[in-house]
Amino acid sequence: MVSLLTLLVALVADQFAAAPFLVQVQPLIRDQLGGVAWTTLKAECNAIWLREGVAIQWDGNLDVWRTPDLLLPTVFDEWELQQHDRTQTAIGSTLFAGRNRKILISVSRARELAVAVRAPHADALERDVAVGRLLGRVLAHEIGHVLLSTTGHAERGLMRQFLDAGEASAPSDENFQLSESDRARLALRFPLRIARPGRLQADIQGP
Ligand SMILES: [Zn+2]
Repeated sequence: MVSLLTLLVALVADQFAAAPFLVQVQPLIRDQLGGVAWTTLKAECNAIWLREGVAIQWDGNLDVWRTPDLLLPTVFDEWELQQHDRTQTAIGSTLFAGRNRKILISVSRARELAVAVRAPHADALERDVAVGRLLGRVLAHEIGHVLLSTTGHAERGLMRQFLDAGEASAPSDENFQLSESDRARLALRFPLRIARPGRLQADIQGP
């Protein structure tokens, strides 16, 4: 007969085996970011990374269920991004300083692009959804730089250098996956911790 303790140990072990690598985004929001855009951003970013076996936890999220593997300060601030972006055209940037990583995102640049390309005649709700999608994909790209520990880019997929604004704010997200070489690099960096896609727990998929 299986004892209760054995059963509990088995359940905990099973939970651990199924637990994906967990990133906690610590957002600092200084730009204007409405509720719909923020919710869409989180859902988009979650979906992109869950496919790759990585879960994202957001500050203030009630379903905090274990200590994250990586804490990631993320600043939504046009002014701060300007200080680091020589091109003055990027929507996001990742700063590497020693062991520290910080992501900078401009909401206003994303809003300008998404509205101009995707939704010039759309109502406020549709615009917020388009802006949220674009921001979620840009943030997912920047998280990719941190997880892959590189400022380099892939030829296609999530880690390509130039995201087309129309595509980045469109409903379809089929071109926002990691390339095979980036997947291999991720698995090498975090052996045994990147869950196999398709085995993820449903309860961490919410925004
Ligand atoms: Zn990049």
